[in-house]
Formats: sequence, structure tokens, C-alpha cells
Amino acid sequence: QGGPARLYSEEDPLVILSGGSLKPTVTNSSTAWLVQFYSSWCGHCIQYSSTWKALAQDVRDWQDAVGIAVLDCAQEGNFDICKEFSIKFYPTFKYFRAHSPPSDKGTIYRADREIQSIRQLIINVLQNHTKLERPQHCPPLEPYSAAELLPLLGQMSDHYTAIIVEEPDSFVGREVILDLLQFSGVQVRRALSSDRSLLDTLDISVFPSIYLLHPNGTHAHVEKRLRFFFSSLLRTLPGVWHRSSSAASQTVALQDSQTSQPWKDFDRSKVYTADLESALHYMLRVELATHSTLQGEELKVFRDFVTLVSKLYPGGDPVVKLMETLSDWLLSLPLQQIPYQAVLDLVNNKMRISGVFLGAELRWVGCQGSRPGLRGYPCSLWTLFHVLTVQHDATPTSLDNTEGEAAPVLQVMRRYIRTFFGCEECGRHFETAAASSLEQVKNRDQQILWLWNQHNRVNTRLSGALSDDPLFPKAPWPSPALCPSCHEEKNGVHLWNQNQVLGFLRHHYGASNLSPRYSL
Ligand code: FAD
Repeated sequence: QGGPARLYSEEDPLVILSGGSLKPTVTNSSTAWLVQFYSSWCGHCIQYSSTWKALAQDVRDWQDAVGIAVLDCAQEGNFDICKEFSIKFYPTFKYFRAHSPPSDKGTIYRADREIQSIRQLIINVLQNHTKLERPQHCPPLEPYSAAELLPLLGQMSDHYTAIIVEEPDSFVGREVILDLLQFSGVQVRRALSSDRSLLDTLDISVFPSIYLLHPNGTHAHVEKRLRFFFSSLLRTLPGVWHRSSSAASQTVALQDSQTSQPWKDFDRSKVYTADLESALHYMLRVELATHSTLQGEELKVFRDFVTLVSKLYPGGDPVVKLMETLSDWLLSLPLQQIPYQAVLDLVNNKMRISGVFLGAELRWVGCQGSRPGLRGYPCSLWTLFHVLTVQHDATPTSLDNTEGEAAPVLQVMRRYIRTFFGCEECGRHFETAAASSLEQVKNRDQQILWLWNQHNRVNTRLSGALSDDPLFPKAPWPSPALCPSCHEEKNGVHLWNQNQVLGFLRHHYGASNLSPRYSL
């Protein structure tokens, strides 16, 4: 529309301010703010935008203590406010302390290219508040003393207490405190390696370390890890949950799990055929069954999906046999349209007569939710397609007729989701992602990694959403507990080691890791 290009969008985890919203947002606020005043025509600002977005992503969970924002001084409606705030060069970075008065024009600081140093600056700004001024939800960032911490040892409590013992110049403890800001069920404290009496009692000599006090009074000790490892460990403790999936829903979740299907313990490092079979059961008997006839593109998508599963499904003969028969039947039909009832008849009756059938009920194991309505089908759909991408890599000749197509599994998945997946909004998001990047997938390895990466993007978007199961909070996957070597840190920023991730996915979703059991 002739205006300057926008460098930031609503999708980015930051606040886009305007002339009218700057002051009401950053002054008298219960949180501190870091604002980048930029100009969308300035080349340096364009280059810097990726750093700023990465920073916003990195400290996304700190938002109860500090907000990250941008304001585009090249937008006509923002000319006056940029003048009022004396913005002469772009980008200019200013921070506003919590509860700052309306007259405050912010304090200028020099922003670094290193996310780690901006993070440290944020921590310094937060610590620079007096006790009364501190952002409402920001816990103390100062170290605790032995006298304050030692009485907690051996005590029963309704939460975990994580004591991070670190060297005085380390920021890890404060970063982990802020990473856990939105989580309940755990309190994080830091203590210093110079506190001899604490070290002697806790028997700690390696830094940083976490001394973790469990609610039942016992303790565990985790040594020398990076910020991401510590945060991930604490967030995934049983009974720790993201505050936005409220305490009420946590209670309901636990109560419901007792009154509905009995809970089955399962091993998170395994994949269960029960989930894969339940996915197919739900697809064939529920999701597809809402279409009374299949014709045109729908029929083609259905046929390609059934054929794909028949060739790649690793979970056992009866299902493969059923899918093969269904696929042969569909391929042999000269019809342009089929009533879905005919498919159901085949699945339900004919197959049963010949002793081949698909489990007739939903039995979630790895995909069970803490209450009805959570997890289940969408979880199993992801699982099924991860398994199929890995299986395609393990048996590349299974799909002979698709030679030359770099991502046949993803193409079928994309068309299935677009045509049949009941969650429309999910389908729209997935289609946008596929349209923008699927053509970059050139081989089977990239096919596995594309789906993993896409799934993680959805996890990040949904983290803390109401649909999140409090017992299975959305987080980057695999966690450090599942795959330590998948995680690295460079200049204080978390990085995936993609080779290790690929190896892990091949193992995790591979045929040998499939468990036929219905519980642990
Ligand atoms: P899920 O995200 O379903 O994951 C299932 C299991 O897969 C996990 O338990 C874990 O073992 C494993 N896993 C997790 N992450 C990865 C990864 N990156 N790579 C490999 N394995 C992994 N819901 C919405 O509200 N909005 C959406 O836009 C949306 N889009 C969706 C798009 C698709 C294609 C699908 C299949 C689902 C979508 N959903 C969406 C549903 C949502 O992603 C979850 O499936 C649902 O909330 C259930 O979550 P869950 O806790 O069972 O974990």
C-alpha cells in the first residue's frame, strides 16, 4: 500500500507499539520494557530485526517481568511520538523500569548483537529496581544465604525448591529463575559458590549445580549444565505446570483422570502401536466418515493416504494387511465416487471375516491425556506421520512409484490435513508452512527434519494455551532428558544439533522402538 515494509508481525513474540500505545504501555506498567525504536527504511534495522526477534523468542517466558517491543518511526502516525522521545538515530534502544512515571522518556542503552549480553542487560535492569518497585511477578534475583536455605532441607512442601549454586559472575541462576516465572509448582533460588557453609552441607563442588528439594523432603543433585538444560529439567518435573493452564484446570485434570479411563503408566522414550492403531481407527471410522461420499480430489487423497500407510506402516501385520486390501480395492475401482459407507463396510465387516481388523476402540497410551478432550487424536496423527517419515528413510524402495519426489510422505500428509483434518485452523497454519517451505525439502533426511521442525513451531505457538495438557506442557522436543546431545549452546543461545536430532528421530520413531504394549 505504498507504506514502508513492516519488519515485525503479530506472529513475532513481541509487542508492536504505535504513537498512541507507547506511553500507556511502558509507563505505570507492572513490568519493565525494552523498546527498539527503528525505521523500516534503515538497512541496519532490517538486518538487526532477526536478532531482535530471536531475543524476543529467547525471553518470551520472562514477559511477566519484562516486555520486548518495537516502534517504527517511519510510520507517519508515529512521527510525533518519536520526536517527543528524542529518537534521532535508528535503531535506538530504550528501557523503561517497572512503574515508571508518565514523564519518563526511557533510558538509552547500546544494544549488542549478542543475545546473551542483551539478556544480561535485562537482568541488570531488573536488579536495579528497589524491592518495592520490582515488577509484580518478578521474584528476588539476589542470592540467598546458607542461613535462609538450610532450614528448607528435609522439609515437606507443596512445591519443589531448586537451589542453583553458581559462581558470582554467572547469570545462569537468574536466567533460570526468569525462565520459570510462568510456572507453578517450583521455586527457584540462587546461591553463591563463595558460601562455604552451604557448599559443605550440600556437598557441592561443581558449578553451576542444582540442588533440588522435592515436595516429599528428599533431594536430587544435577551438576554443571547450561541454562536450557536446567530450565527444561524443572519445567518437566511432575506437578510443575504453566500458570496459564490455571490451577483450577490442574485440579480438574487430576480429578478427571481418576474418574475416566484408568491412567496407564507409559515410557515417554517409546512409541506405542496402540496410538498408531487408534489414529487409523479414528481417521477411518470417525474423521473420514463425516464425508458421505468421496470423489475427485478427496478420493485421490484418501487413496494415496491408504497406499502410503500400507507401504510404510511398521506396526504389525493385521493393520498392513487391512490397508493393503483397502488400497488394492480403491485402486481397482473404476468409480469416480464412492459412498463412504462402502469403505466402512469393508473395514468393519469384510476384514473381520478374514481375521484382519483394526482395533475397534480408541486406546491411547503415549497419547493419553490427563482428562478427556486433551491430547488423543492430534497427538497420534503427529506420531503416525513422524513414524512414516522415518520408515520411508529406513525402507526407501517401499515407495517405488514416487521416485523423484523428494517428500512423498509430507505431500500426502499435507493433502490429508488440508482435505480431512477436523481442526480447520490447524490445517490453515500447516498449509501456510507447507506452501512456504516444503519445496526446500530435497531428500528423506530433510523430510524427517522438516516435520520435526514444523511440529516444534506448533509447540512453541501453543505453549501455555488453554488446550495445553498441564501434565504434558508444550515445549521444544526432544527435551534434554530424552536427548542430551541434541542440545547445544553457542554464545548463550540454545541451538539444536541437527545431526543428533536426526539420529534421535530415526531411533525414536523407528520400528525397533515401537512398543506393542498397552502400558509400561
Ligand atoms: P503433540 O504436539 O500432539 O505431540 C505428540 C507427541 O509427539 C509428543 O508427546 C512428543 O512425544 C512428540 N513430539 C512433540 N514435539 C515433537 C517434534 N517437534 N517432533 C517429533 N515429535 C514430537 N493445535 C492448535 O491449537 N493449533 C494449531 O494450529 C494446531 N496445528 C496442528 C497441526 C497439525 C498438523 C496437527 C497434527 C496438530 C495440530 N494441533 C494444533 C494440535 C496440537 O499440535 C497437538 O497435537 C495437541 O494440542 C495435543 O498435544 P500433545 O500434548 O498431545 O502433543
